[in-house]
Amino acid sequence: MRIIIIGAGLAGLIAARELDAAGADVLVLDKGRSPGGRLATRRVGGATLDHGAQFFTVRSPAFAKTVDDWLARGLVHAWNHGFDDGDGDSHPRYVATGGMNSLAKDLAVGLDIRCSTMAFAVRRDADSGDVSVAIDDGTSFEADAVIVTAPLPQAFALMIDGGIELDETLFRTDYDRTIGLLVRLDQAPDLPPSGGIQNADDVFSFIGDNASKGVSLEPAVTFHANPTWSEAHWDDDNDELVKQLAVAAHPWLGDATIVEHSLKKWRLATPRSIWPDPCWTTADGKVIMAGDAFAGPKVEGAHNSGLAAAHTLLA
Ligand SMILES: Cc1cc2nc3c(=O)[nH]c(=O)nc-3n(C[C@H](O)[C@H](O)[C@H](O)COP(=O)(O)OP(=O)(O)OC[C@H]3O[C@@H](n4cnc5c(N)ncnc54)[C@H](O)[C@@H]3O)c2cc1C
Repeated sequence: MRIIIIGAGLAGLIAARELDAAGADVLVLDKGRSPGGRLATRRVGGATLDHGAQFFTVRSPAFAKTVDDWLARGLVHAWNHGFDDGDGDSHPRYVATGGMNSLAKDLAVGLDIRCSTMAFAVRRDADSGDVSVAIDDGTSFEADAVIVTAPLPQAFALMIDGGIELDETLFRTDYDRTIGLLVRLDQAPDLPPSGGIQNADDVFSFIGDNASKGVSLEPAVTFHANPTWSEAHWDDDNDELVKQLAVAAHPWLGDATIVEHSLKKWRLATPRSIWPDPCWTTADGKVIMAGDAFAGPKVEGAHNSGLAAAHTLLA
């Protein structure tokens, strides 16, 4: 079976691994320079910062199986058991020791992944029912089935003119935006012992200390602006954004000073509504959509949706 997977984020990589293990011929395409999607880690000077997903929890047996393997191989560790805002429960908050993107790198080993490759269109031939994926250099790949894990607005753009019967309600999903400021500091910040704060104030939905996570050797903090702030300031000039976010970050820094910074804007950060099934399939089973808009807007949801997509094809 020849399967093309669009998107080397967690959903696409998990689907690819599962299908590869079952003997399928799998090709993964991603427009980014490297695999990971929203599992993203960036260097700022000598510091290392997660700038997409910050941590994850484990609630389902399927994800627990994967995380047990990551734990056994030292890829992840428990950061804390909740933050200091009363959300403490028995669930560990896990982080990837090498930064979240290291999980994508690990999953990618041995797979046929073409990065810097933008899928342009997914098409289904009306007569034969064959599916193909056209890429940005004008060539196209034939496949027995295609799994699309791009966020829904991007997936829609890929398939709208491809002769694929789509469920229109899938594409009414809008996404929250996130603007992030990554800062390297000259000393440790003034953050609570858990190392993170959720819904810190009117600006930040999350503040995470990458040194406390064990991800950065140097003091480094990720500040994520909440959806309301991010939307209101989306079109602001980048220098202005940095200035405003640095002022808002100041109370959380204690005596530390920002030595270096980096700005990151996620246009499609978090789906606002979740499809009731862990993936969506055309009637002929040749095009499957998966990703965190299906099984939940988190690392665990993306994992479980990718797995569901693979199992749908293998059934
Ligand atoms: C700022 C932020 C903070 C977050 N914090 C947390 C957190 O703390 N805990 C948690 O559990 N979750 C968190 N999440 C959510 C988590 O990161 C996502 O749910 C998960 O990583 C989504 O994985 P995915 O595979 O569904 O999508 P993605 O990771 O978005 O992967 C989709 C891939 O498709 C590729 N693509 C898109 N269009 C095309 C195309 N036309 N051709 C080729 N490739 C294409 C993209 O490049 C991308 O790599 C956060 C997300 C963001 C943005």
